[in-house]
Amino acid sequence: MSDDLFLKIIDREIPADIVHEDDELLAFRDIDPKAPVHILVVPKRRIPTINDLAGDDAGLVGRMVLAARQIANDEGLADDGYRLVFNCNDNGGQSVFHIHLHLLGGRQMQWPPG
Ligand code: C5P
Repeated sequence: MSDDLFLKIIDREIPADIVHEDDELLAFRDIDPKAPVHILVVPKRRIPTINDLAGDDAGLVGRMVLAARQIANDEGLADDGYRLVFNCNDNGGQSVFHIHLHLLGGRQMQWPPG
């Protein structure tokens, strides 16, 4: 069995509140939300960090952003706005080593982030 937590969610070995699924992506609500809406968009294929992306992953990453945009729209966030974040490695605050795009919304975000 994999020790990749997000593969376990993708394989339905552990539960999640899934909001979108297609052939290559899964999106689900973060278990410890940092905003009123906090959703993770995850590729089904494991890529540990942004550093591990290959040139031909550009389409995949673009589709992750477009999926997040669609979900933001579906969640009613488009007009007020929202934030999309990739964390990378320790200084970036990454804790799960399977790339994921955070969609955060429903409150005023601060800049710079902590
Ligand atoms: O960017 P980072 O790797 O820190 O984000 C991982 C995210 O995965 C966290 O926001 C955490 O709350 C979330 N998570 C989750 N379900 C789990 C374990 C972690 O949504 N079972």
